[in-house]
Amino acid sequence: MSKRIIVQKYGGTSVADVDRIKNVAKRVVKTKKAGNDVVVVVSALGDTTDELIGLALQVTNNPPERELDMLVSTGEQVSCALLAMAIHELGESAISFTGAQVGIITDNSFTKARIIDINARRIVDELKKKRIVIVAGFQGVNLNQDITTLGRGGSNLTAVALAKVLKAYSCEMNTDVEGVFTADPRIVRDARKIDRISYEEMFELASLGAQVLQPRSIEFAMKFGVPIHVRSSFSERTGTIISREVRAMEDIVVSGVALTKNEAKVTICDVPDRPGIAAKIFREIAKQDINVDMIVQNVSRTGATDMSFTVPENDLNKTIKVAKDISAKIRAGGVIFDKDIAKVSIVGIGMRSHSGVAAKMFEALAEKGINIEMISTSEIKISCVVGKKYGEDAVRAIHAKFGLGKKRNS
Ligand code: ASP
Ligand code: MG
Repeated sequence: MSKRIIVQKYGGTSVADVDRIKNVAKRVVKTKKAGNDVVVVVSALGDTTDELIGLALQVTNNPPERELDMLVSTGEQVSCALLAMAIHELGESAISFTGAQVGIITDNSFTKARIIDINARRIVDELKKKRIVIVAGFQGVNLNQDITTLGRGGSNLTAVALAKVLKAYSCEMNTDVEGVFTADPRIVRDARKIDRISYEEMFELASLGAQVLQPRSIEFAMKFGVPIHVRSSFSERTGTIISREVRAMEDIVVSGVALTKNEAKVTICDVPDRPGIAAKIFREIAKQDINVDMIVQNVSRTGATDMSFTVPENDLNKTIKVAKDISAKIRAGGVIFDKDIAKVSIVGIGMRSHSGVAAKMFEALAEKGINIEMISTSEIKISCVVGKKYGEDAVRAIHAKFGLGKKRNS
């Protein structure tokens, strides 16, 4: 085997059609010819996964999760076989595998399985034979030999996990953008590609909806120190390196601005201010498997207070129903909700050591006359809820206020 193993993941848009698969084959062969051992992880062609889920939903509103995994895992089986053929066509030797074939063992949580072990022997054997190894992303197998999948965007996790067990030199995420940006370039025209970012920041940005990487894959990479390189499948340029925090990163106060539009705000009014009430409310909501994001409770001067929180928009109806039940039970004043909200967030590890960051963000919004409805902060993140129609303006204002579009000398 050569000294360096490189894991390259190609997302759905990178293998959306035959021409793109041929393009990927060329890139893979080039990496191999440069003297590396190459392991490729592929997603399903284009929107295949969505289409397969759509098919299932035409058959039933409630597809059994085991069968859903059986179905959607076929997408990646198609792309890995086609890529192997395209590589053969270029005169190199390649072999494709399903997750099960390369021993990606998971737990039993269909549709969001966790990897519990990878036996990479088969991959190592094939690399020794000088072959390029192609692995179907997003899938594994549980101890009963049932096919499982790793959650949407799970090919990222496959790539990171393989990079870890193979002790790969690098884990490249090849996608349809040049890297990770300071904001969505479709919203902010002078958004800039970030050269280097910490796992923590990337995790926050991905959780806030930055599409490039699945949050779980970043968590995994962080835990095991797998360096990630996010880059474009369509160019040779260096993209964004995601790694452990290095000193210079602290000087950058804000790394990126994110916008989330798929949450809704629910308020339970005049909630009695007594021990155990919050516990009761959020226990009931959790029982319905609803993920609460921001929670705001104000001080009560009259023995009652309003309690607001945000939930995924998809869960709004379910949430209103539970909230109304609880409101009646605890003798609160009823439930109001708002679907038209957006959450704007800034993320940066420099916030830990710089002050005035929140004030500057609020000023940016104030200067545009944008009202803030909710605020939450954590060590490296500040989020504000604003009216949905102001979301994009808010991102632009904050991006400009922190000077993120300009070249920084870091
Ligand atoms: N094809 C799967 C999805 O669309 C996995 C992936 O692309 O990473 O979620
Ligand atoms: Mg996909």
